[in-house]
Amino acid sequence: MMGALAWGGGIFLAAAGAWLGWRWGQRNRRRKRARARFHAAAFPRAWAAVLRRRMPVYPRLPEEIRQRLEAQVKVFLAEKTFTACGGLPKVDDAMAVTIAGHACLLLAGREGADCFPTVQSVLVYPGVFSSEMRTYDHTIGWEVVGTVAREGEASPAGSVVLAWCAVLQTNALAGNGHNVVLHEFAHHVRPGGGNLPAVLAEGLRALRTNENEAVIDRYGAQNAEEFWAVSVEAFFEMPRRLREAHPELYRALEEFFALDPAAWERV
Ligand SMILES: [Zn+2]
Repeated sequence: MMGALAWGGGIFLAAAGAWLGWRWGQRNRRRKRARARFHAAAFPRAWAAVLRRRMPVYPRLPEEIRQRLEAQVKVFLAEKTFTACGGLPKVDDAMAVTIAGHACLLLAGREGADCFPTVQSVLVYPGVFSSEMRTYDHTIGWEVVGTVAREGEASPAGSVVLAWCAVLQTNALAGNGHNVVLHEFAHHVRPGGGNLPAVLAEGLRALRTNENEAVIDRYGAQNAEEFWAVSVEAFFEMPRRLREAHPELYRALEEFFALDPAAWERV
């Protein structure tokens, strides 16, 4: 009896596995066909106008990179859901294009990069939002739960949360080293390959001991994930200063992203 049940269970599991595999394959094929359609469609002029206004680097991108960015933006807007939160009436096209444009800069260096497979939704608040923070207090031996005001948050569960006021500030102050969209989406990109992990580890050690660091945000000293995210911000927002102060880090990021933002900066 047990044997029959086990066999029955085995057959059921095999059938369920085959069905799931077929469904996955079907979804993947459908997604590939949809992506081919997006690639074939022209980039809407209204979207290009938004990017010119809200993404200062967009008009300065080399042609090939701009085309790849636009292809990724089309996929991003078709596949991710945008949700207005905290009293924001809606996420309109201009807002969604702005967020997609900045995020997709991370993917524009490589042909055929997957468009943030770990992100399904983008939640947008009008201003800073509060988020739960749990920290273990070693002095009392308890976990302390509190709230903290945030401009952005990346959840491993598949979402990115952004404060629209911070996204706008990013665009107004382009070149100040901060870009909340790049920061949060960098958390959904795994740094790997070549000597990048070793260079990042060394950079984090140096940031923790160097009181005079002027290019990389001290926020990155918290841990490896935050050091990665602030390094990405500096790489795209003030590339020449980063290249000058931390040439090895710049070169490792240049190789990883297959992009050279220092060449796009105005002299
Ligand atoms: Zn972060």
